Amino acid sequence: MRIWQHFLNMILPPRCIKCGQVLSERNGICADCFAKITFISAPLCHCCGRPFAGGADVKFGAVQYCGECLRRKKRLFMMQRSAFIYNDESKDLILNLKFRDRTGTAETLAGLLYAAGNDIWKEKPDLIIPVPIHRLRLLQRRYNQSALLCKYLAQKTGIAADYAALVRQRNTVPQVQLSGTARRNNLKQAFAVVYPQNIKGRKIVLIDDVSTTGSTLNECAKVLHKAGAAAIYSLTLARTED
Ligand SMILES: [Zn+2]
Ligand SMILES: [Zn+2]
Repeated sequence: MRIWQHFLNMILPPRCIKCGQVLSERNGICADCFAKITFISAPLCHCCGRPFAGGADVKFGAVQYCGECLRRKKRLFMMQRSAFIYNDESKDLILNLKFRDRTGTAETLAGLLYAAGNDIWKEKPDLIIPVPIHRLRLLQRRYNQSALLCKYLAQKTGIAADYAALVRQRNTVPQVQLSGTARRNNLKQAFAVVYPQNIKGRKIVLIDDVSTTGSTLNECAKVLHKAGAAAIYSLTLARTED
C-alpha cells in the first residue's frame, strides 16, 4: 500500500483542491488558499446561521438570534449553517466540485461541512438528504455534487443518508438566471417527497453546495414539512453574504 502510494505521489502529486499547488497530503487546501477563504464562525444567529458583525452587544458563546429570526412567527428551519462565504475566493471550490469533475475534492469539502454542522449534530438528527437534481441533469452531469457530500458526511457522522425520498420532478432553470416572481414560479412544485414513510417524524438535515437566495432550500423544506418531518436543518458549503 505504501509503495503504491509513493508511486502514485510520484506520477500524480497531491495538489491543493483550490489552486493546484503541490502539497504533502492528498485532497487538502494549501495554507494560502485557506487564509483567503472567509470561514463562518461565531458569533452568528443560532437559527439562520447569519454571521454577526462583531460589536459591543454581541456576546461570544451565548445563543443569540438575528432580528429577522426573532420576528419570524413560523420557522421553516430549526437551524441553518454554512462553512464559508460564497465569493470570488471560494467560488472555485464549488465550481470544481460541481462542473469540473473534481469529485476527489468532495471528501475534503465534506470535512468542512462536518465542522460547520457542529451545532446541528448536537440535535441528533435522524437523516441527511441532499438537495436533489433532476434526472436529466444527472444524466448530463453524471453525479449530484450534494449527494457526494452526503456520502462522506454519512461516513463521518454515522447518520443515515437518504437519496430517494426527495426528488426534483421539474428540470428548473438555475435560480441565479432569474429574478423576483420568475424565481418563485420557477421552483413551484419542483420538489416532491416520493417516500413519505422515510420522512415522517424524522429530524432531517438538508445538504447543498451553495445557498444564494435560500429559495431552493426553502422549497425542499416546505415539501418535507408537508410529509411530516419533525424538524429540518440545512447545511451548505457556502452562503452569500447579505
Ligand atoms: Zn491553494
Ligand atoms: Zn437569524
